[in-house]
Amino acid sequence: MSTGDQRSMIREAMQAIAQRKPGKSKLVYDKTKRTIVAVSEGVSTPKALNITADDADMFGVVTLSSGWLRNKWPDLTKLGSLAVDFSSWDDGDALTQLELCIQGSGTQAPATLVFGQQQGQPAEGMVISIVPTDKPTHRADVFVSPDNIAYRAELIEGGKPAGDRREVVFADIEPQLDLRRAGILETTILKDRTVLCIGLGTGGAHVAVELAKSGVGHFILVDRDRLSVGNVVRHPGGISQVGRTKANVTRDLILEKNPNAQVDVHIVDVGFDNRGTMGGLVQAADLVICGTDNRQSKLLINELCVSANKPAVYGGAFRRAYGGQILRVRPKHSPCQQCFVSALPDEASDVEVSSQDDADAIAYSDRPVAVEPGLSLDVLPIATQLAKLALLELLADKSSTLNVLKRDFDAPWYLWLNRPEPGTQYADMPPLSESRDEMTINRWYGIYFERDEQCPVCGDFLAGFAAAYSIDPARLPALPEKD
Ligand SMILES: [Zn+2]
Repeated sequence: MSTGDQRSMIREAMQAIAQRKPGKSKLVYDKTKRTIVAVSEGVSTPKALNITADDADMFGVVTLSSGWLRNKWPDLTKLGSLAVDFSSWDDGDALTQLELCIQGSGTQAPATLVFGQQQGQPAEGMVISIVPTDKPTHRADVFVSPDNIAYRAELIEGGKPAGDRREVVFADIEPQLDLRRAGILETTILKDRTVLCIGLGTGGAHVAVELAKSGVGHFILVDRDRLSVGNVVRHPGGISQVGRTKANVTRDLILEKNPNAQVDVHIVDVGFDNRGTMGGLVQAADLVICGTDNRQSKLLINELCVSANKPAVYGGAFRRAYGGQILRVRPKHSPCQQCFVSALPDEASDVEVSSQDDADAIAYSDRPVAVEPGLSLDVLPIATQLAKLALLELLADKSSTLNVLKRDFDAPWYLWLNRPEPGTQYADMPPLSESRDEMTINRWYGIYFERDEQCPVCGDFLAGFAAAYSIDPARLPALPEKD
């Protein structure tokens, strides 16, 4: 029996199993060949396998883009054929249309899409035949054309017997992704929202990717750093991305999760010398996520967000990632980053040193500062909590399923601890199982503190100054305009 006949028998047997029909053949494991073979009913075999319909995956998968095909439909029906390219994965086991790939496999496989049944077997190359079908339209292997007719497709490989034809599935990205968020997140609202993500280290990149998975449609990414080998242990970017800028790596990760997202990338430093650029980016956003870990950049972002009246969420891990915190700022309604630094200077300054650049920035004295170790699993809870707060903020003025969370997430400051880190004020926390009222690890705490009415950024600093020195505020000179 040739390999082609054998495969064709296996396919028939599996289809019979899938349809719960008594087939003409059954599948057994052949110990000598170390593979599954089909044998005729009645032949005695050493060992039968219990094979289910799910095992049909052994034939590999070919995936075409429904969106692309809908766009090209007039050309295909008029011309009769079109060229299509695939990214070939795992020695051709999975073929994914290039239009679907943000990052391809590096091996391309060209094919010809043919409208109607392919006559005979092509001598070489791959042909995909698009033919009408009466299968139900909700199936992944059915494409509904713009004129509302159901089609299926099959891949015919040149030089291979008819039994080797592979079924093709269709990826209809937007509806298939929206289905998984329906009723939980208001995807139509989130598609129009713009999030400015400043700082795309581990936390910032994870937040951006989570927001993309939730359906946020527009991103502006700001980070100057490049991904280094050491980052890979925590950053969602992997070893193949080393050397690329974190902003570009994050853009690709976003597009892998939400291919229809619009992503603008800015490879710049966040500092006072480019405050004009940063101010423009803040203006363009509905929400600002700040994941930088030095105080100067946080205070600059804070000032820009307060003056543009944009909500911002700041997140960061403590040193060695023993915990972390999130500050949500609604300008004029909740304490700003400057209020936070004034009210809780120690808490505001407990930041992790996660990159050599940060270490160098802090080590302005002769004291060397080392990059600190920390675990990804200790940073991710902070990123996911931050992403949830960000979603609440993005849906704040809309009716949303998440609105029930508003009463739970109304504090400005959130604190999370992974372990009772020696040398910190949390070293003597009681065990999780014993504590009912005291602080413990692995719980989020929403903490309230007052906004500083005389905050130089979000309050009326001059009035406070005047009151403190009993001066008539009208007689004070105006503060110089910031630019
Ligand atoms: Zn303030």
